[in-house]
Amino acid sequence: MLKGIAASQGIAIAKVYKLEQPVVDVKQVASEPAQELAKLDAAFKKTVADIEKIKEVASKSLKEEELAIFDAHLMMANDPEFRGMIEEDINTNKDNAEYAAKMVGDNMVSMFEAMDDEYMKGRAADIRDVCFRLLCNLAGKEIPNLATLSEPVVIVAKDLTPSDTGSLNKKYAKGFATEVGGRTSHSAIMARSLEIPAIVGTTGILAAAKSGDEIILDAISGEVILDPTPEQIQEYTKKAEEYQKEKDALKAMKELPSVSTDGHKVLLVGNIGSVADVEGVLDNGGEGVGLFRTEFLYMKSENDFPDEDTQFAAYKQVLEGMNGKPVVIRTLDIGGDKKLKYYKFEDEMNPFLGVRAIRFCLMRKDVFRVQLRALLRASAFGHLCIMFPMIATVNEFTEAKGLYEEERAKLIAEGTKVGNDVEVGCMIEIPAAAVLADQLSKYADFFSIGTNDLIQYSMAADRMSQPVSYLYQPLNPSILRLVKMTIDGAHKNGKWCGMCGEMAGDELAAPVLLGLGLDEFSMSATSILRARKMINGLNYEEMKAMAAKAVELDRMEDVVALVKKSIQ
Ligand code: PEP
Ligand code: MG
Repeated sequence: MLKGIAASQGIAIAKVYKLEQPVVDVKQVASEPAQELAKLDAAFKKTVADIEKIKEVASKSLKEEELAIFDAHLMMANDPEFRGMIEEDINTNKDNAEYAAKMVGDNMVSMFEAMDDEYMKGRAADIRDVCFRLLCNLAGKEIPNLATLSEPVVIVAKDLTPSDTGSLNKKYAKGFATEVGGRTSHSAIMARSLEIPAIVGTTGILAAAKSGDEIILDAISGEVILDPTPEQIQEYTKKAEEYQKEKDALKAMKELPSVSTDGHKVLLVGNIGSVADVEGVLDNGGEGVGLFRTEFLYMKSENDFPDEDTQFAAYKQVLEGMNGKPVVIRTLDIGGDKKLKYYKFEDEMNPFLGVRAIRFCLMRKDVFRVQLRALLRASAFGHLCIMFPMIATVNEFTEAKGLYEEERAKLIAEGTKVGNDVEVGCMIEIPAAAVLADQLSKYADFFSIGTNDLIQYSMAADRMSQPVSYLYQPLNPSILRLVKMTIDGAHKNGKWCGMCGEMAGDELAAPVLLGLGLDEFSMSATSILRARKMINGLNYEEMKAMAAKAVELDRMEDVVALVKKSIQ
C-alpha cells in the first residue's frame, strides 16, 4: 500500500493507465536558420491548434473561469515576444530550433518559479506545459491525449499538466494518483473542481504501478492499493457506494435552511481569503460569508499597501457575488506571523502580543482610513458587516468605530453612495474582550469569536508551537465559559454572535455551540454541508441542557464524552 495526500475526496477502483510523457532529448546542433525558422513556424502552428482542440474538449466539463487557463496558454503560444526570443537565438547563434526553444522556455520557467507571488509561481506550470508541447511538436513526438481514453481507468502520472486535466473525460477518468504535488498544486485544484478522486504526492507510485493492473484509490484516507485482492475490491466497492450515498445526501442539504429539529435557526456561512473563494461558499450552500480575511490582499501587493480602488473592486466583487447575503469583512489583521513585503514591523520580543491587527491600524490611521473608505464604497453593493480584529478594550472599539463614522460622513458629503444597513462588529479573540462582552455589545452591532486566537491567548499557548499544541482545547470548559460569556453578552443588548475560528466547523463543538446559543457559524466552505446535516438533526432544547452541563465539567475529555453521548 502506498500513501499520498488526499487532494480530492472519493474512492475509485479501475485499471491503471500510466501516463508517460515522451522524452525529448535536446542537443545543441549548428543549423541553417532558414530551415529551423520554418520548422519553428510549423511547430507553433500545431501547438496553437492543439491547445484550441484541448480547450474545445475541456469546455464540455470545465467552467468558464477554469477554461481561462487555456486562453493563457494560447496567449503564450501566440506571444510574439516569446517567439521572437527563440528566433533571435536561431538567427544569431545558428542554434537548432529545439535547443533555442528549450533554452528560452527553461529561462522563463525559472524566472516565474523564482517569483515571490504564489500566483505568479503557479504560472510556471503553464509555461512549462506550453513549452513542452512546442518541443514535442518540433521533435515530432506525440503527447498522450487523455481525451481519447475509452475505458474506465485511474491515471497514474508524475504530475498532470493543465492540458492533461483539461482533457480528462470524467466518464473514463475515474481518478488519478500522482507522484508529486500537494493539496494546492494545479492538478489537485482541478480534481476538486471536476469532482474526481485524486491522491497527490504518492511517492513511489510510478515505479510500483503498471498499466492494466487493478488499482484502488482511497482518496479519503490517501491510500493507494495496487493489485488488490477480491476481498479488498469488495470492501472498497461497498465503501465507495456508502461515500456516494453520503455525498448525495449532503448535496440535498444545499438549499435547506440551517434549523434544529425544534425550529431554532442559525446561519452557516463560509470563511474566505479572496474573491475567488466566493464560488466555493455558494456551491456548498453557504448562507453568507462570516469572515473575509483581507490581509491576503495586502500580502499579495508587491510594493505598497493596496490602494482604495483595488480594495473597493475586491470588496464589491465579493458583495455582488454573494447577492445580498450577509458578508462579514474583517479589517486588516497584520503583524504577528503575517508580514508585508513593503513594510518593516519593529522587532518585538513577542510579536503575537505586540503591534498587530487593530493595534497596527490605530497607529497607522492613514492605512486604516483607506480600507474603511473602500469598504464603505463597496457597502452600496450588498449586505456588508465590517469587523475589527483583536479588540481588547471598549476604547479601541470606539476609536475604530469613530474613524469609520468620520469616513462615512466624508463620503456622504462627497456624494458617494454608501449602504444604509452596514453593521460594525467586534472580533472576540482576546479573553479581556470576552469577559467584558456584555459591555462591549452596547457599542458593537455583532460579535464574531475568533477561537484560533482566543484559545491561544487563554491557554497562553502559541498556536504555531507543536510541543504545546495539546493545549489547543476548544472543548475545554474554560473556553466554553468564555464562549458562553460572549454569546450571552451579545444577546443581553440584542446583538447577534457568530464564530469564525476553526472551532465553528468542528463537528464535536457544533452541538455545544448550538446549545450555548451561537447565531452564526463560519467555517471553510467544504465543511458547511456536513455541519448543516448535523445541526438539522439536533434538538435545540436538548443541546441547551447539554451545554449548561458542559460548562460545569472539569476537563475537555468530560465534555467530549458528554457531547458524544448527547448526539448518539
Ligand atoms: C481566529 O483567531 O480565530 C481567526 C478567525 O482569525 P485568524 O485565524 O485569521 O487569526
Ligand atoms: Mg485571529
